Amino acid sequence: MIVDAHTHIGVERLFNLVMTSEELMATMERFHISKAVVQPQAGAPDIKQNHREIFELAQANPGKIYGLASFNPVTDEEEYRKNAEWAVNELKFRGLKLHTNGFSISPQNPFSRKVFEMGRKLKVPVMIHTGAGVPQALPSLVIPVAREFSDVPIVLAHAGGGMFAGEAIIAAQLCDNIYLETSWVYAADVAAMISAIGADRVMFGSDIFQNIPSHLAIYENLGLSDRDYEKVIGLTAASLFDLK
Ligand SMILES: [Zn+2]
Repeated sequence: MIVDAHTHIGVERLFNLVMTSEELMATMERFHISKAVVQPQAGAPDIKQNHREIFELAQANPGKIYGLASFNPVTDEEEYRKNAEWAVNELKFRGLKLHTNGFSISPQNPFSRKVFEMGRKLKVPVMIHTGAGVPQALPSLVIPVAREFSDVPIVLAHAGGGMFAGEAIIAAQLCDNIYLETSWVYAADVAAMISAIGADRVMFGSDIFQNIPSHLAIYENLGLSDRDYEKVIGLTAASLFDLK
């Protein structure tokens, strides 16, 4: 079972991208991806509408599509709380995203705290963008908050994004609740991640549709045991995000 732990639909004005639900479903079919965790775009023209679109796609494709909420935390406490509760309790989204690059905010910024607090309250993982967008996106900035919120699973999206893969590995070695999602990561670094922290905390993700074939090929050619391959390609994400 292949699970894409990180993809999107919607109009992304920040990175000049459009990702449609039709394209998502077609690429999943083409590459035999059973389930996908789908996020809104940080630069969506209407972020709540983007969440609704994902919800509708999930309703139309039960057991295949799962949402992950993404709201800018630079807002008042009450507004963020309401949005996070709406997404998790009503739309049944499986986690909260902190887009350090899209919202230009460090995980250490006091505004970011509410994301971790809501992850704890709603009992869902928090995914944090890492890699492109330094300094806010440095993996090491997550270490203090991962220690403080040691009961909240934290996924480093892009696991340092190539340039900072080594730092992402160190963060995960220091904090048992840190997981690594490997879109945009080089093959040798994916291998290093699995050998450093094990297949139970590393997961395939694509971020954009064009990455799917090359990223799947990386995992197929690492020489993993069948058990570890099954985990990193799908089981780890399915278990973390509770994709039943
Ligand atoms: Zn993304």
